[in-house]
Amino acid sequence: MAQEDVFKKLVAHCKEYGFVFQSSEIYDGLAAVYDYGQYGVELKNNIKKYWWDSMVLLNDNVVGLDSAIFMHPTVWKASGHVDAFNDPLIDNKDSKKRYRADVLIEDLMAKFDAKMDKEVEKAAKRFGDSFDEAMFRETNPRVQENLKKKEEIHSRFVKALHDNDLAELKKIIEDYDVVCPISGTKNWTDVRQFNLMFSTEMGSTADGALKVFLRPETAQGIFVNFLNVQKTGRMKIPFGIAQIGKAFRNEIVARQFIFRMREFEQMEMQFFVAPGEELKWFEKWKEVRMKWHQSLGMGEHKYRFHDHDKLAHYANAATDIEFEMPFGFKEVEGIHSRTDFDLTQHQEYSGRKITYYDPEKGESYVPYVVETSIGVDRMFLSMLAGAYCEEEVEGKDGKKESRVVLKLPPVIAPVKLAVLPLVKKDGLPEMAKEIVNDLKFHFNCQYDEKDSIGKRYRRQDAIGTPFCITIDHQSLEDKTVTIRHRDTMKQERVSISELKGIISEKVSMTELFKNL
Ligand code: ATP
Repeated sequence: MAQEDVFKKLVAHCKEYGFVFQSSEIYDGLAAVYDYGQYGVELKNNIKKYWWDSMVLLNDNVVGLDSAIFMHPTVWKASGHVDAFNDPLIDNKDSKKRYRADVLIEDLMAKFDAKMDKEVEKAAKRFGDSFDEAMFRETNPRVQENLKKKEEIHSRFVKALHDNDLAELKKIIEDYDVVCPISGTKNWTDVRQFNLMFSTEMGSTADGALKVFLRPETAQGIFVNFLNVQKTGRMKIPFGIAQIGKAFRNEIVARQFIFRMREFEQMEMQFFVAPGEELKWFEKWKEVRMKWHQSLGMGEHKYRFHDHDKLAHYANAATDIEFEMPFGFKEVEGIHSRTDFDLTQHQEYSGRKITYYDPEKGESYVPYVVETSIGVDRMFLSMLAGAYCEEEVEGKDGKKESRVVLKLPPVIAPVKLAVLPLVKKDGLPEMAKEIVNDLKFHFNCQYDEKDSIGKRYRRQDAIGTPFCITIDHQSLEDKTVTIRHRDTMKQERVSISELKGIISEKVSMTELFKNL
């Protein structure tokens, strides 16, 4: 199935099964704003818990924080967001559609990558086992030609970003005949900068209202509380502060479902270190964060690092962790070495001293910061994209049937088990409810007695429930039930007293934490 179709199906599935709804849908929706439904909220909460515990419980030098969304407006002056939190935008005059100029150029480069990969794929088929990919890439003229073009674009792009040269960005788009996917034309406006922050007013206008911003990142709430947490928590450097919360960006192009939203949620951790040690810690956190992603078992090949072409004004190293979405490898998390930029700026703008006295070094300094910043919603999308499968399976009477199954990691699955009486009589429902009443204190359980057992299994597959427990007449006699495993569909007979242990082993975060 084409990847585009997979994505469309995934979006439809999210709605049909109560994961994600368009915001204000009955009023035709609000662009790039979404609500999480009954299963979506469970999945999202589990992702947040897995992140929070792995940061705050597993590291004795990382503590949490929950700062407000509104902050003093000078925070955003100091952080550079008022003057420089911009994206370069370009409009197509025919379709009237708006694009990010940098994204159009990145997509253009990705096309050359795709062409090269296609050549490699064809050759690999032709040569079989004797295929040497590295040698082929170095010597094949078509691959070399595409590589040269991509590198040309890349070096022009990086220079244009560095020089803030908007005219050159437009020229690249024109020189390589980039067309608007809607109108198919090259009728572009000039590239302009667009500030992504939302603002509103605090207090009544009669009093002279204060213009405040909806935070575009949670990080600044951590920086302005650095001294509060360090002093009251008696924290010693190196240490980190973690926070989960909403962020808002008036994104220019917001067409990829929950990948790019105007209201979204971030999980950020700022790690404060001594000057000169930041790059060592940057490497360390890169490794830790990649391991965290891979621990969920989606497959190592689904992730890669992508170093930034242009470092933000505050950073001396930056990389993204990308996940293979149905629309290509895309950023899920950023890891940035932010130097002492933020704390120094806040020191200057607030007039307060923000330093740390290092007892080991016997001196005071403004700490350096390494940040790990992941979007909850993108993480959510990556898990669904990795988990969504359509399979042909053997149904009733040996006939082929198709099933849609979300092979979500059991630890984050919204519902852990469904308890299903085989029939709605003979005391089976009562026994099933007894099991639910016992296990619901430990796991998110569902009871379902409606429709045939096959249909009930499919419903649970579609929301990613790892275990279905079926109660039959034998259960009444010997207190055993069948447990069906979602991915293999294998069933085994176990005694009711074993259920808690079997399920715990597979769904408990503790087991995964041990490998982090
Ligand atoms: P992009 O280049 O895709 O716009 P970014 O580099 O601006 O992202 P950061 O500022 O590094 O993103 O934010 C950290 C994380 O927050 C991102 O890795 C992403 O997971 C998440 N994020 C950022 N913008 C959005 C958005 N509009 N919708 C959903 N998640 C977002």
